[in-house]
Amino acid sequence: MVKEFMEKVIQKNPGEIEFHQAVREVVESLESYLKNNPEYMEKKILQRIVEPERVIIFRVPWIDDQGEICVNRGFRIEMSSAIGPYKGGLRFHPTVNLGILKFLAFEQVFKNSLTGLPMGGGKGGSDFDPKGKSDNEVMRFCQSFMTELSRHIGPDTDVPAGDIGVGGREIGYMFGQYKRLRNEFTGVLTGKGLGWGGSLIRPEATGYGAVFLACEMLKTRNESIKGKVCTVSGSGNVAQYTIKKLLQLGAKPVTLSDSNGFIHDPAGIDEKKLQFVLELKNIKRGRIKEYADKFNCEYYEGKRPWGIKCDMAFPSATQNEINKQDAETLVKNGCICITEGANMPSTPEAIEVFISGKILYGPGKAANAGGVATSGLEMSQNSLRLSWTREEVEKRLHDIMINIHETCAKYGKEPDGFINYVNGANIGGFVKVADAMIDQGLV
Ligand code: NDP
Repeated sequence: MVKEFMEKVIQKNPGEIEFHQAVREVVESLESYLKNNPEYMEKKILQRIVEPERVIIFRVPWIDDQGEICVNRGFRIEMSSAIGPYKGGLRFHPTVNLGILKFLAFEQVFKNSLTGLPMGGGKGGSDFDPKGKSDNEVMRFCQSFMTELSRHIGPDTDVPAGDIGVGGREIGYMFGQYKRLRNEFTGVLTGKGLGWGGSLIRPEATGYGAVFLACEMLKTRNESIKGKVCTVSGSGNVAQYTIKKLLQLGAKPVTLSDSNGFIHDPAGIDEKKLQFVLELKNIKRGRIKEYADKFNCEYYEGKRPWGIKCDMAFPSATQNEINKQDAETLVKNGCICITEGANMPSTPEAIEVFISGKILYGPGKAANAGGVATSGLEMSQNSLRLSWTREEVEKRLHDIMINIHETCAKYGKEPDGFINYVNGANIGGFVKVADAMIDQGLV
């Protein structure tokens, strides 16, 4: 069944390799569940769920500081509105293309369902590279991007958020432009500033959520996170707050990376060093190499941190950043838990190594769902026109991650007691969306 289905998906979506990879993983997970529940096959749920409800591709012209006209491509993939308005981030990165955004939108459908909140799935972005651009250039780009996107989104239709290359600054410029165009102050984006509709804990949510899920996974083996040596990749939003929560819970993070290389700090990245990273990355927009210069530790140009001995790993940069060899090295070095802050950071071959080694492996769909869950909480607060306290939002986030773990265990537990979190997340995310599609007729 998987082979025939995938042949059709590949034929219909040529060249979209990341999308094929994401679909294959889900279909493989669902195979035996679908055999036991034939209604989903009869209603052609799989064939429908891999087809976006709508894809919008548009031109984004803008003017740089030299007065030159530049042209980028914008996208919004509205994948599924079965259980709520489309919801998912915007990515600004030169590698962005249709296949990458379709993979992300597809994963988002299952992830959002897992959170238990009423959110459909979407994703968007542009091949625009914010690196090296001035604030004014980023603003002009964001305004042009939103001028077109604003026709397709709205607080009850489609609610984008941030992702790689889109943080508080970009959300601010886009929100401002939406407001000018529509003359409406609404919760059309999440990840907003605290003074204008944002939620406390939203910046922290993805990283914190990943660590909460890791703790739940460790509990199943009577392990605690205290004292664990952790490798973390990336140095953006997810990596920063993964480290913050690891420190709060007594773990020892030792690496950070960006697209140029990684740093290894065997003494541990402590709160003071993390503050330096926040300033370096969020304000000065510098490179992680500067950490090594400042704190006198090793920097590895062009490398990823998976060769460093650790108890736990938190890939938090980008897709396919752990290959088979990296996975084998991690397991050989005694790593017992992989928690994916990033989306699809492990290749299928790497996942196979983790699953066959029966280590605790939390896939992105489950592990990084805390970000979108807290975006969902931001939407609720906007609708109520209220702001919850930091403690209230963090407690809700924590509860959601505990529930996600329970769902994964419910659908992913194997006869020998091993929890296959990949199957658990895929089946657990699928059921609610599929049932909603059946209830709503041929949509
Ligand atoms: P940021 O833009 O804040 O940071 C991204 C980090 O990853 C940077 O350190 C960046 O380095 C590095 N990176 C990006 N692309 C590559 C690449 N091709 N190779 C190596 N390193 C790379 O993004 P986020 O922290 O928000 O996102 C990180 C991951 O988490 C992504 O996979 C995203 O989809 C996922 N995610 C994010 C959520 C959120 O709430 N922000 C929610 C759920 C998932 P450099 O500066 O050199 O580009």
